[in-house]
Amino acid sequence: MTQGAGVEGTGGSVRDAEVTVIGGGAIGCAVAFTLSRAGYRDIQVLEQGELAGATSGQAAGLVGQVRATRDRCLLAMSSVALYARIEQDTGYTADWRQTGSVRIALTPERVAEFRALAATARSAGLEVEFLSAARLAELCPMLDTAPAMAALWCPTDGYLQPNSLVMAYARAARDRGVTFAARTTVTGLRVTGGAVTGVRTDRGDGATEMVINAAGPWAGAVARLAGQDLPVVPVRHEYFVTRAVPGWHAGLPVLRIPDLRLYARAEGPGILCGGWEAGALSLDPGHVGIGQVLAVSPDWDVLTGFAADFALLAPAVTQAEVRAVFRGFPAFSPDGRFIVGPVPGLRGFVMAAACNAHGVSGSAGLAGHVLESLQPDPSPYVRSLSPARYCPRTWDWESARAQAQSIYENYYAVHQPRG
Ligand SMILES: Cc1cc2nc3c(=O)[nH]c(=O)nc-3n(C[C@H](O)[C@H](O)[C@H](O)COP(=O)(O)OP(=O)(O)OC[C@H]3O[C@@H](n4cnc5c(N)ncnc54)[C@H](O)[C@@H]3O)c2cc1C
Repeated sequence: MTQGAGVEGTGGSVRDAEVTVIGGGAIGCAVAFTLSRAGYRDIQVLEQGELAGATSGQAAGLVGQVRATRDRCLLAMSSVALYARIEQDTGYTADWRQTGSVRIALTPERVAEFRALAATARSAGLEVEFLSAARLAELCPMLDTAPAMAALWCPTDGYLQPNSLVMAYARAARDRGVTFAARTTVTGLRVTGGAVTGVRTDRGDGATEMVINAAGPWAGAVARLAGQDLPVVPVRHEYFVTRAVPGWHAGLPVLRIPDLRLYARAEGPGILCGGWEAGALSLDPGHVGIGQVLAVSPDWDVLTGFAADFALLAPAVTQAEVRAVFRGFPAFSPDGRFIVGPVPGLRGFVMAAACNAHGVSGSAGLAGHVLESLQPDPSPYVRSLSPARYCPRTWDWESARAQAQSIYENYYAVHQPRG
């Protein structure tokens, strides 16, 4: 989980390129990798800091395939298939561990929700199973499982190291000719005759035929450079990692305990635990500026609350020493759905944003959606992710922010379907 590791060859500078990807996080690098594999020949990635240096490098790396809709299950399944074979295919590892995951219900409403989730998963061809109490205790010997009313097991889930994944995408893309310019901030876009024709940066300009906006929590600011208002809302998220705790090791399953609004997994011999706050902290999407530092200090009241809640199942967590806090501003949309595809009315300007905290786990699938959105006849699902739903602007910034924040706050609420 180191931050900001460079990739060989990222010291390049901005140039003329057929496709320019703005942002070197999980999404930008996945898009560059996916487009280069699909035959796009001339791609550059421009990154204001270092690859994986912003939101992606802070992620917990959980990859869950059990989702509220079949389309989201399929997206996550295609992503897992890629993570499992990326090293074999490219020679670069994402440090993927297929540990399986257990989702624990503490209320009857949640048990009912799990049944619906299991049905959706099975309709997508994903293997899931309800565990007996004995099997749950066997798979999770580090927990007090007595409070569990049901446990849904997905054996093909797991976790990866986000930094490794981003570097794997970047190195594999570079091997296909993609160029990377780190420490290069896009400060302007050239628009001629209704089409994007170039980028301006603090290190020079370049002509381009297509800009892909993968700027994470800054994607709204980058869209404004093209005269477009899009509701990309940064919402704070954080988790802690402890020093070694007896009984915890890297092979344990990933845990989700939605009734406590928590997730957890082992990070080496320690506990990684994070959650979805009931009263979240979001930023005004209309005022996030290009290059603005989005700093987050650890909020110890919130983090201590996560530990106190998790102690119901893992009492040892309250005694464990915290060794690190990871945090950032993942971007959410007002309807909880990705904003992916060409922006209507501005040729060559394509969105790959608003990952709703699914941007590491879903990066491979989401990049596939970007590719599909550029082709003549995208599926109805991919079309439904189009930024067209927010253009022209009939919404207001304050409502967009409130709705996106509510998506975050209800991330683990008893399931409401969304795509
Ligand atoms: C604490 C935490 C835990 C998380 N856990 C998970 C998890 O377990 N699983 C999961 O799937 N997701 C998780 N997420 C969410 C996940 O991190 C994001 O969805 C994902 O990183 C988004 O990737 P991105 O590439 O869109 O954004 P980023 O990683 O932020 O990348 C965007 C990049 O664009 C660059 N950029 C912005 N503006 C410009 C500009 N003008 N010029 C040039 N470059 C620019 C930025 O510097 C940045 O590097 C977590 C997030 C946080 C904060």
